[in-house]
Amino acid sequence: MSLPSISDYPERYRFRFCPRCAAELVVAEVFEQRRQRCPACGWVHFPLPNLAATVVIMHEGGVVLVQRDIEPDRGIWHLPIGHVEYGEDPAAAAIREGEEETGLRLAEPRFLTYTHGPSYGDPRLFYLVLSFVARSVGGALTGSDEGRNTMVVPLEQLPPLKWTSQQDAVAALRARDVPRA
Ligand SMILES: [Zn+2]
Repeated sequence: MSLPSISDYPERYRFRFCPRCAAELVVAEVFEQRRQRCPACGWVHFPLPNLAATVVIMHEGGVVLVQRDIEPDRGIWHLPIGHVEYGEDPAAAAIREGEEETGLRLAEPRFLTYTHGPSYGDPRLFYLVLSFVARSVGGALTGSDEGRNTMVVPLEQLPPLKWTSQQDAVAALRARDVPRA
């Protein structure tokens, strides 16, 4: 399998100068891949995927959806999702994003699945999305700090969600729930 090389990486995320010593970077073969390398101090640019967490919130018999208010995909309904901060446990990130976007307080995050794929905003960037399910334990679904619209939909009536990670999260939850029936 061949991985993307530095020439496939978005221009705006490439470095021109070494972030450690400010020397101009060169492209060289490092660990069987064309990579940006610093000729002065030896620093090598290893691009990483973006890391995100999403959460299926079980609330009053349904799942909480939020309406996206920025581009791309403004207006679609989706599960709360956001970036995982450096040093942050992904489950904590899922809870944090879910609480920020819905106004609810959440508990008992459980891992569902992960999704790896290109970003919708830029297909040359990759995302690793970790999906969790959690339940609401307080707060009030009154919109959010971010001013999002929210709604609660029974799991079996959820409309098809646009993003692959969200489809995967719902499919994993439904599969998990089968033995309970
Ligand atoms: Zn350097």
